[in-house]
Amino acid sequence: MIEIDGSTGEGGGQILRTSLALSMCTGQPFRLSGIRANRPRPGLMRQHLTCVKAATVICDADVQGDELNSQSLMFTPRKPRAGDYAFNVGTAGSCTLVLQTVWPALLLADAPSRLLISGGTHNPMAPPFHFLERSYAPLVRRLGADASLTLRRLGFFPAGGGEIEVEISPAADRLQPYDLTERGQKIDSYAECFAPALPRAVASRELEFLGTALGWNADRLRVAPVRQNEGPGNALLATLAYEHMTEVFTQFGEKGITAEKVANALVHEVRDYQLSDAALGPHLADQWALPLAIAAWKRQRSAVYTCTTLTAHAKTNFEVIERFLPVGFSTKQTGKGWRVELRPMK
Ligand code: ATP
Repeated sequence: MIEIDGSTGEGGGQILRTSLALSMCTGQPFRLSGIRANRPRPGLMRQHLTCVKAATVICDADVQGDELNSQSLMFTPRKPRAGDYAFNVGTAGSCTLVLQTVWPALLLADAPSRLLISGGTHNPMAPPFHFLERSYAPLVRRLGADASLTLRRLGFFPAGGGEIEVEISPAADRLQPYDLTERGQKIDSYAECFAPALPRAVASRELEFLGTALGWNADRLRVAPVRQNEGPGNALLATLAYEHMTEVFTQFGEKGITAEKVANALVHEVRDYQLSDAALGPHLADQWALPLAIAAWKRQRSAVYTCTTLTAHAKTNFEVIERFLPVGFSTKQTGKGWRVELRPMK
């Protein structure tokens, strides 16, 4: 039984999700206390509980503490089973965080799986669907793990109602870790605004401000098509595609926050990334650690990546991964970012 203290480091939901993901992959049971201890409302929220329920179903796990607001959890998995699954967060809680919890175990399973997950698809403090589709999934595919992601309906806070469909192919025998230290040639950069059920002026003002600040002309500024049954909600995305990887930065509109302020926050994110030559931005840097560690463990090979910054999220994630897998992370500050090295421990 691995004992995890949920108040360490970042003290948020990622400690739970990484523990679930790696317990499912390795078969090691864990006991987690102090769940989300550093958050204003600690314990399991709907999104976290859906992650626990999804992991429990896929692994036919024995579980204690799987209730809303619970601050401790005991989880004992059996072998993950591939299959067709549907999970519903039931609120606008993030679908993509539920997906990231079960994805590693399903790619190690021995048959394809299909998931339908409903809830929020574009949430603050979570990977938006388009980030997973354009940034994260292509990197996971390069490890040898094929997956297809479809956005069936956009879902925003507070209404939710979004839905994603994901197909995951088995990849246990194909995983190959690789180094990611350079972006490569720049291929494209563009901005999109999703603003279902909002006045069109919101999207045009955000895009215009962003275009002027970054010097992007009108054909790189797009109002994304939305369906009638979506929204209300507002996400402004900047996609920067390079030869070896793609970054997607996102800001969310809120009542009482001007379109210009939303766009300005995104401009700052893009500029920070452009100031560095490291490959991964702050969010990819924490999320990439998990699939890469699984590949490094399976193949007993080291891998390196560079990132613009190392957040408390990333450092905490490294620590949790090291509790479950025989791998070690070491980090070094470089001129314009960080270098993260991941080694299998014999
Ligand atoms: P809490 O911390 O309240 O428990 P949580 O369960 O949502 O919330 P966090 O521990 O905050 O979990 O983790 C959120 C995850 O979402 C992190 O991996 C972070 O990198 C990712 N994330 C947040 N914002 C973005 C974004 N704009 N683009 C991509 N990923 C994001």
